[in-house]
Amino acid sequence: MAVRASDCIVIGGGVMGCALALRLAQAGASVLVLEKALPGAEASSAAAGILAAQEEAREPGPLFELGLASRARFPAFAAELRELVGIDVAYRRTGVLAACVDDAGLVALEARFAWQRAAGQRVVTLSADEARVLEPGLGPRIHGALSFPDDAQLEPRAYARALSLAAARAGVTFVTGAWVTRVLDEGERVAGVLAGGERYLAPSVVVAAGSWSSLVDGAGLAPHAVRPLRGQIVELETRPPAVCGTIVSPRGGYVVGRADGRVLCGSTMEEAGWDKVVTAGGMAHVLEVALELVPGLAAAPVTASWANFRPATLDALPLIGPAALAGLFVATGHFRNGILLSAITAELVRDLVLGRTPEFDLTPFAVGRATAASAHKNTGVR
Ligand SMILES: Cc1cc2nc3c(=O)[nH]c(=O)nc-3n(C[C@H](O)[C@H](O)[C@H](O)COP(=O)(O)OP(=O)(O)OC[C@H]3O[C@@H](n4cnc5c(N)ncnc54)[C@H](O)[C@@H]3O)c2cc1C
Repeated sequence: MAVRASDCIVIGGGVMGCALALRLAQAGASVLVLEKALPGAEASSAAAGILAAQEEAREPGPLFELGLASRARFPAFAAELRELVGIDVAYRRTGVLAACVDDAGLVALEARFAWQRAAGQRVVTLSADEARVLEPGLGPRIHGALSFPDDAQLEPRAYARALSLAAARAGVTFVTGAWVTRVLDEGERVAGVLAGGERYLAPSVVVAAGSWSSLVDGAGLAPHAVRPLRGQIVELETRPPAVCGTIVSPRGGYVVGRADGRVLCGSTMEEAGWDKVVTAGGMAHVLEVALELVPGLAAAPVTASWANFRPATLDALPLIGPAALAGLFVATGHFRNGILLSAITAELVRDLVLGRTPEFDLTPFAVGRATAASAHKNTGVR
């Protein structure tokens, strides 16, 4: 049976799909989100929630600019969500510390981020003593740090939940348990999608299916355009809070302190296929990193652990833009920074769907770089 669904169908109810659906509905569009599980069920609720536009950036360029623009939206976005649905997403501008264990490490960090200072961003060099003023729990091995005072954090689970509720309140329809298996086309145009044997029709479709995006038949994404990269997190409980903000280890990995004393120790970066498990080795790794940063965490009880998949692309840039069929768009592949980039991505893709010119040049994120030429066969509505 064909369901005349809406102006736009969004495949996937993570932060990307829900933020986009909210923005589209606020612009007057009727939107249907099809979600295979529940909104926020996957990476969006598993993230650490670090809004590290600066600490995560390795070079100047479009991704850095996109991250800064998105980070700047969060104070207002958090207030908007509180107003709309009464949920506090715990946005806090706690800053991020990039720690090092010797002089050479500090010099290397300085060199790595000098370009950000030149670009007018705040980056502060701290001695070990100065760093301990910000994070008193830092261990004896920590020799100094760079501080990114404008990087921030929020609670991804609250954020994902607030987005889906706000979208629903704005008029978005959600169908949960709806696994989209195929994008339907009609000649050169998108016609809708197939989910659970049901055809949902709409003139616009957005693939926001996170790590699963390449599995959507007819979306035009090559099999490995987006792949799952597993991350494991261990949560500890500390009272009083043992970590104030986010501290990043020179070995990779981090600890994130919540206001109520929870400390997230993350995260592994593993090619593990679709194996969504917490492993002994993964836990050992993130805890070892955490205890080197803040040795006092050794006495903290472990309260939770989880794993999920970052949607990774071959060049670590997201895929944002029109796809091969007219009316088909992609908003996926945000990898390690999808929480950060969700605010701006929602606005950019809303503008694409509505036929407006987005405020960013999306060429660097073009879907074409990851599509397979043979992925589409236009054989009428399928
Ligand atoms: C351990 C870990 C730590 C992270 N830390 C951070 C961080 O600190 N800061 C940051 O910015 N980012 C972080 N990330 C990355 C961030 O979580 C992701 O980039 C972001 O959540 C991606 O959002 P999404 O909506 O694209 O994907 P998802 O949240 O995975 O949502 C995709 C949704 O689509 C649904 N779906 C998939 N296929 C289909 C289908 N065929 N039909 C219907 N529904 C479908 C899924 O069920 C899912 O709900 C982290 C990720 C992990 C795993």
